[in-house]
Amino acid sequence: EQEISERAAGLAEGVLAGNRTRLAQAITLIESTRSADAPVAQELLGAVLPKTGRAHRVGISGVPGVGKSTLIETLGLHLIEAGHRVAVLAIDPSSTLSGGSILGDKSRMERLAQAEAAFIRPSPSAATLGGVAQRTRETMLLCEAAGFDVVLVETVGVGQSEIAVREMVDTFVVLLLPGAGDELQGIKKGILEVGDILAVNKADGSRVNLARAAARDHSAAMRYIRPRHPEWTPKTLVVSAETGAGIDELWAAIGEHRAMLEASGSLGTQRAEQSTRWMWSLIEERLFRAFRENPAVAQELGATVDAVRAGSLPPGAAATRLLNLFGSP
Ligand code: GDP
Repeated sequence: EQEISERAAGLAEGVLAGNRTRLAQAITLIESTRSADAPVAQELLGAVLPKTGRAHRVGISGVPGVGKSTLIETLGLHLIEAGHRVAVLAIDPSSTLSGGSILGDKSRMERLAQAEAAFIRPSPSAATLGGVAQRTRETMLLCEAAGFDVVLVETVGVGQSEIAVREMVDTFVVLLLPGAGDELQGIKKGILEVGDILAVNKADGSRVNLARAAARDHSAAMRYIRPRHPEWTPKTLVVSAETGAGIDELWAAIGEHRAMLEASGSLGTQRAEQSTRWMWSLIEERLFRAFRENPAVAQELGATVDAVRAGSLPPGAAATRLLNLFGSP
């Protein structure tokens, strides 16, 4: 066994014991931008790693206003009632900008936040979406080590952040709005390709029929999409986060998807592929940063870019020149 620092060992022990204060401190350490904290954070993750991987990781996405936080609260309370321990994390692409927040503040999900068996952590902020995703990924591992058996990762249905969440969960749920020309809201964005389950929310009051029609349209459109898993045809259902109608069915569908992943052996391979893709994307990001920060590269970069812009140096030759500078000591 490798020696690790006292600080990492103490936090690991607290996290593994399910201590919420230690869990929160551990996440703060993971999110820290102080360079001295980074090795301690990695020690901590290494120490808890054997106790991770046991949660069902579920992504939930949809456009702002579709009802994500309402649904997560309703579903979360329902799961706690059934004896689960639920962690709610978020990836908010706007958190990379100047502190903005598409996903809103901490006052959301107030009832769920009060539950002893729930743990809610807002999106970390970081310079890049990749940075936000890395911290959320690592936070997910800490939550698993602390005994949370369901991790819900929320994000906004606006492209990149959705892919980031897709790449860290087992089951991906896309929330849709009923009707009103929204038949194509998923098709346009490729939502049908990433969603394992599509749930049309707000199926209550006068919108029930509209919601059912939207579900039928999406279900029909699904026939033209190549399934991500040969053994899974994405499910479409209608729910009301407000009344709780359809929430049982939604959880049952999430469970069915999980059972399919386990029975087919895809759970392990999907996670293994996610982890290796993640490693490669970290390598890319760090190599690129090292390249940009390399003094020899930095010195020649301006002139080289100018030459490419002016058309006097082919881009290929420019890349070779800069990479040679990067490679030479
Ligand atoms: P988010 O931006 O996706 O997190 O959406 P919110 O959960 O904040 O919900 C946006 C609005 O839709 C709020 O006013 C909610 O009360 C409302 N809402 C959410 N779910 C439902 C639902 O199932 N039925 C109805 N009628 N309204 C809902």
